[in-house]
Amino acid sequence: MYVGTPGVAYALYRAARSGLFPTSEATAFFERARILADVAVHWADSERDPKTRAGFLLGGAGAYLVSALLNNLCGKMDEVRKYVDRYASLSRVCEPMSFLSCGSDEFFVGRAGYLMGALILQRDTGIEVLPPNQAALLCRTMVESGRQYSARVQSLSPLMFSYYDVEYLGAAHGLAAILQVLLLHEKLLSEAECSLVWASVDFLLMLERDGNWPPVMCEQIGSDDDQLVHWCHGAPGVALLFVKAYQLSGRPQYLAACERAAQCVWNKGLLRKGPGTCHGVSGSGYLFLVLYRLTQDPKYFYRAYRFMEFMFTEEFCRGARTPDSPYSLFEGLAGTACFLLDLIKPDGAEFPLYATL
Ligand SMILES: [Zn+2]
Repeated sequence: MYVGTPGVAYALYRAARSGLFPTSEATAFFERARILADVAVHWADSERDPKTRAGFLLGGAGAYLVSALLNNLCGKMDEVRKYVDRYASLSRVCEPMSFLSCGSDEFFVGRAGYLMGALILQRDTGIEVLPPNQAALLCRTMVESGRQYSARVQSLSPLMFSYYDVEYLGAAHGLAAILQVLLLHEKLLSEAECSLVWASVDFLLMLERDGNWPPVMCEQIGSDDDQLVHWCHGAPGVALLFVKAYQLSGRPQYLAACERAAQCVWNKGLLRKGPGTCHGVSGSGYLFLVLYRLTQDPKYFYRAYRFMEFMFTEEFCRGARTPDSPYSLFEGLAGTACFLLDLIKPDGAEFPLYATL
């Protein structure tokens, strides 16, 4: 999903279902998406390591997700169920607490991503992907994994996680994404588990500096390295957690954090790394679109629109770097396409594969 064919198929799926194109064009998007998704499924099926297959953004699970969504779009429900079953069968792989030696809970390859995919798949097809007790088991394992790691390293956060021995804080591999997935599944957690999650949300809130967050934990105190304002590391990704926290709790401090983050992104979010969602201008713009959905404040729509306009200026076209994967969902034009589609219909705007509201 991150830089490969299923991510491009997913963007074409969003275009095909948007209702913004004549039938002939929507059909062309759909047909092309299906070709790409078939290639991706072939790869995922032939991947021998089930742990790699279970990865949402960097593994094979995304291929099953996008194939199920495409078949749902054309009403082939037997095929939808086939791919939903393949996605669901990977949940057993994610059950052992340390199923990945690099870190089992983050978003790209770990449980958080797998659970986010299951949630989106269930929401968008209306078919149960994981029985509630299975989803609850994976969520509880994440909480317990974070609690044990936190105790081991004497973290100040009740829940902490590491990925390749780094305590990331942002959406890509970090605490923000894991907490967001846990908040999305809040109803499946016990009261004690919920209070650990919310205390960790408040811990992350405390680390904010001028609307941004440091990328990793060890750089938090006394470091200047808080200049990354990316979805993957920094305000555009972390603030989505506080959007969710505000929606669930109504506590004004979460909305205030979102507002400060949006100001920081407005000041610093015109990135040189291309038009993508992960560390590009679209990823910055998505915070405004999600905040517009949350607040209906036209200021946020205006800011998203201006970020879109910037991507069409000569300054950007000449000055921005071409990403390694220029057509991909997270680095390239597929993600930009999602952003442009959501700009036309902002009421349902959602960062690709990262449910918030
Ligand atoms: Zn990135």
